[in-house]
Amino acid sequence: MLIWKPPAEVSPDVLMLGTSPYPVYLLKGKDSGVLVEGTIGAMGPLVAEQLEQFGVPRDYIARVLVTHAHPDHVMALPFFREIFPGAKFTASEAAAKTLQIEKAVGFFSKIDGMITESLVKNGVIQERHRPTVGAGPTIPVDETVTDGDTIDCGSFSLSVMATPGHSDCSTSFFDAERRILVSADVTPYYISEHDYWWPNYFTGYAAYIASMGRLAALGAEIVCLGHTATIRGADEARAFFEKGVAATRACHERIVAEVRAGKSPQEVGNAIADEVVAKLPPLLPLDFFQKNCALLVKQSLKDAGIEAN
Ligand SMILES: [Zn+2]
Repeated sequence: MLIWKPPAEVSPDVLMLGTSPYPVYLLKGKDSGVLVEGTIGAMGPLVAEQLEQFGVPRDYIARVLVTHAHPDHVMALPFFREIFPGAKFTASEAAAKTLQIEKAVGFFSKIDGMITESLVKNGVIQERHRPTVGAGPTIPVDETVTDGDTIDCGSFSLSVMATPGHSDCSTSFFDAERRILVSADVTPYYISEHDYWWPNYFTGYAAYIASMGRLAALGAEIVCLGHTATIRGADEARAFFEKGVAATRACHERIVAEVRAGKSPQEVGNAIADEVVAKLPPLLPLDFFQKNCALLVKQSLKDAGIEAN
């Protein structure tokens, strides 16, 4: 089952908050919980409202987990820091390092501002959800984790897995006992209305496929995706990963074939960007997608050993 309309109770252990394009998860423990995803700035005030609706007190949040240092995964952290003063903020070493770079955080703030404007304009959020706490020059975390670590969350624990390919710092988390997986944008961006998969292997095609394989092998019963949906059910999760891998391979093969047939890398990337934009709500300008699709083309050509000129 695909759950894509937050706020929603995925299971007694998991709340899906935020919005479908930008979900935030609460992994519930006995006495405290873990909030997953630093998301976009505008999700901060919305998540605060949703927690109140579900009767979750703010001091229940003991930890905030960052999956990777991309602008749509960290910009509510300053707001969360204010409303959860007792929480520990955790990210991978590589993500923490990026969040210490002023130039990166400045760029993230710019993207975040654009997303807020689009969400307000399209009625996805209200005026009252505009971010009230901007990022400082950097976004500090309290603790870094690395592949193989176990995070003690009180009544449950999470294994830390480096899952690169989408970004070098992508980190996924798995609660082996309750079979709950948090995937760090490791699978393609899935647009359920069109059954369309947009692979996001921005830093490595082979690594992305390998990361998906690693997560698929866990046998999760709940998969919390970084965008659009939560998957509930072991069979559904397995099928989702299989389709994700197939869609990624198809995209890669198409890129390689079209460039070999004489199309320019730019032409190929822009065509994919056009397809994606046609299927998404108008949140970001076309050139944002063109830049990201250019990365897919670059990674595919690199993997195939084709020199782009
Ligand atoms: Zn990302």
